[in-house]
Amino acid sequence: MKNGTCPKCGSSDIYAGTEVFPKSGPFTCNAIPVGLTAMAPLDNYVCAACGYVESYISREEDIASIRRKWPQVTSEKESTPEEKD
Ligand SMILES: [Zn+2]
Repeated sequence: MKNGTCPKCGSSDIYAGTEVFPKSGPFTCNAIPVGLTAMAPLDNYVCAACGYVESYISREEDIASIRRKWPQVTSEKESTPEEKD
């Protein structure tokens, strides 16, 4: 999607909401909760042909805190027991 092509319908009519204001705040939903008080603003990419939306977290520190706070999804292909520290 970031490369300008819709993964669903193949259209190149893609629009980036990376500079849309406000990206996050108490009354907007263009963010996801990372923790109790932390919100991660999202960059949305919209396909105007089929309406598909893809969202990306733009800040590296938000991804870092998600790594710390969220449980990691284990791949179904692997049968090894879950490792946690
Ligand atoms: Zn599309």
